[in-house]
Amino acid sequence: SDDKPHQNLAIIGHVDHGKSTLVGRLLFETGSVPEHVIEQHRQEAEEKGKGGFEFAYVMDNLAEERERGVTIDIAHQEFDTDKYYFTIVDCPGHRDFVKNMITGASQADNAVLVVAADDGVAPQTREHVFLARTLGINELIIGVNKMDVVDYSEDTFEEVTEEVKQLLKQVRFSDETTFIPISAFEGDNISERSENTGWYDGPTLLEALNDLPEVEPPTDAPLRLPIQDVYTISGIGTVPVGRVETGELKTGDNVSFQPSDVSGEVKTVEMHHEEVPKAGPGDNVGFNVRGIGKDDIRRGDVCGPADDPPKVAETFKAQLVVMQHPSVITAGYTPVFHAHTAQVACTVESIDQKLDPASGEVAEENPDFIKSGDAAIVTVRPQKPLSIEPSGEIPELGSFAVRDMGQTIAAGKVLEVNER
Ligand code: GDP
Repeated sequence: SDDKPHQNLAIIGHVDHGKSTLVGRLLFETGSVPEHVIEQHRQEAEEKGKGGFEFAYVMDNLAEERERGVTIDIAHQEFDTDKYYFTIVDCPGHRDFVKNMITGASQADNAVLVVAADDGVAPQTREHVFLARTLGINELIIGVNKMDVVDYSEDTFEEVTEEVKQLLKQVRFSDETTFIPISAFEGDNISERSENTGWYDGPTLLEALNDLPEVEPPTDAPLRLPIQDVYTISGIGTVPVGRVETGELKTGDNVSFQPSDVSGEVKTVEMHHEEVPKAGPGDNVGFNVRGIGKDDIRRGDVCGPADDPPKVAETFKAQLVVMQHPSVITAGYTPVFHAHTAQVACTVESIDQKLDPASGEVAEENPDFIKSGDAAIVTVRPQKPLSIEPSGEIPELGSFAVRDMGQTIAAGKVLEVNER
């Protein structure tokens, strides 16, 4: 499967509309759950006299992952179609899903929007579509789910499709997209055309995924590796760990950690407990750098080539979308910004322009405030050094979530970095 082109896929949609169930169904139908694991579960289920055992197994596993919280492994639900190798980005249903969607270790190329047929467009349907648009998701495939609950009614399918098309129009997403009547739970139109929807003649979900356009090849951006944790391992020394977002990490390279501003030569690179000569985008690595001690670097640092180090912002200009804020945001507001593995309090120094969220055109210069639903260009001053990149140069390091009062209140991408 390694020679197939890769796609990062997000599964988005309102809570309880069936995202996790769909992930389980996709893994199950594509045979992405190891045979011995299914066999073990089959036996357990038979002993207990339960049906639907294999699918239930996948679901249990996903639930367990959710409870464990965000780990490096959580984004690693993988499956393939004839053409592509898919990684499901983030863990649907996790309470920090929106934040993960923005700052997630790797961002989604395309997404499946799950909309329950018996509920239609709901608040998080809007929120996720809005975010998908802001963050540059290329294509959406719409799964109108829980068709079994509405007796596979064509009329209901058409109504929900129309409602979603209105939403897509509002945010200027192309509505020339694929709408598929599915049941994640029963398995209709996932890998095989369902007899329950005789009126439907479009593709199955797996066919639609297989038909997605190929992803632009990764940029030839320099190494950027946000540090997730720093360990001390006896016999080796200091071992920062993280995921290579862009470029390559090789033994012998001279690397720099920013904003901690230390550098040294890479001695060893380890992946899956084995030493490797180099690592590339998407690889989770632990590595060791000559002369760097545990207290020299920290989570939130970004590792890059010493001769092309990660940028550190004095201020940066960003395009921001306010998702939910109980009142208004004015200049001086200082919430916590989450970007890659960093969390830094940042002040919104000025609100430069308010944008029309649909067209992206300037609606007002220097507005006094912005509120939920508004999009704006703002100037931001980190209160502590923060490494971040213009999304036009390195998109992987160019977006952020704004958190306050325990929720994600805004998301955005960096337009310009004014370096320290
Ligand atoms: P999420 O919050 O979007 O991840 O939703 P879940 O996958 O956890 O599903 C929420 C509830 O809806 C669970 O009880 C599922 O069993 C149920 N569900 C999901 N998909 C379907 C479906 O296609 N048909 C029916 N009848 N129930 C479903």
